[in-house]
Amino acid sequence: MLKIKKENINTLLEELMKDYQVYAPVKNGSKAAFKVIENPDDIFTGHVKSEYSPKSVFFPQSEVLFEYSKEGVSIPEKKEKPYLLWGVRNCDTKSIRMLDKVFGNARQAPDKDMYKDPYWKQKYDTSIIFNFACNAPLTTCFCNWFGSGPFDESGSDIFVVETKDDLIFKGISEKGKELLKKLSVSEISDKKDEEAVSELKEKAVSMMPEVTDISALYEKLPKLWNEPIWQEISSKCVNCGACAFICPTCHCFDVSDEGKNGKGKRVRLWDSCMFPIFTMEASGHNPRGNSVDRVRQRVMHKFNYFKDNYGTHLCTGCGRCVVVCPVNLDIRDVIKDIINYELNKKVPADV
Ligand code: SF4
Ligand code: SF4
Repeated sequence: MLKIKKENINTLLEELMKDYQVYAPVKNGSKAAFKVIENPDDIFTGHVKSEYSPKSVFFPQSEVLFEYSKEGVSIPEKKEKPYLLWGVRNCDTKSIRMLDKVFGNARQAPDKDMYKDPYWKQKYDTSIIFNFACNAPLTTCFCNWFGSGPFDESGSDIFVVETKDDLIFKGISEKGKELLKKLSVSEISDKKDEEAVSELKEKAVSMMPEVTDISALYEKLPKLWNEPIWQEISSKCVNCGACAFICPTCHCFDVSDEGKNGKGKRVRLWDSCMFPIFTMEASGHNPRGNSVDRVRQRVMHKFNYFKDNYGTHLCTGCGRCVVVCPVNLDIRDVIKDIINYELNKKVPADV
């Protein structure tokens, strides 16, 4: 492992900014969001986790796919340096890796090639993620339900632990290891640093909630399709879509043409399966025309369909949706309610 003294962080970042477009948490009103930094002092370190996830770095809320006119079609050229993400927490690193399954190598019918989204790939494929351990997880964090934890290194390019005086770096991916070799301001960490990391890890892990066993979730969900549990869960939901927009793994989008006088652009925009018109068809028919169907869809997608397609749940336990939901519909309660739901409870005992 390597380390740098905290007083040298700006020097390190300036060095990295020469070769990379560096994204880090930056103050955005009272919240923090991942933005390109012009100066290392732009970085906001006052929050454990940015309120807005780094999903928008690779999958922007609004992205021009191409422009058109009578002369033809042109794709906006991107002459950017590779992206480097600084200060990402493990739940968000995991989310980005999940989104790469969709945009980088999407599952198609068996006889078709995998779909690779060029807009995602040109940003993601050359990027590098500095994944920071969480020394003080929030009360809404529950990544440990998904087998992760505040010091989970998996998915990192470079894993970083902040101790009292230093940042300790560990190269995880080949890309990360190569970059660490090039850093000029680092020094080799010692046994004392390793002990400091172990102590911080022990403390952080002790702050996490009790683990709920979610192994039954995937198989149980399809059996609940027609059960009244969905009415109970969705009764509070106002379909505002805040949970989906804030979620680092939700990735529904719409495509819209904005044009006038023979020229315009095609834009990809975030959308949400929680919005009433998301599935509205041109005929006026809406296959998910009520809140019950929409809430069930979101839960089924996260904990059943995505696992079918990509082998994992589409949730990292970041807890952001718990914070933003205006009616306190807590996904942790939803998961527990599903696991504890008694099937066939209305069947009389003597049947
Ligand atoms: S569903 Fe909620 S807890 Fe899970 S990843 Fe999305 S915002 Fe985080
Ligand atoms: S944030 Fe809450 S109220 Fe809004 S759509 Fe999500 S679950 Fe429903």
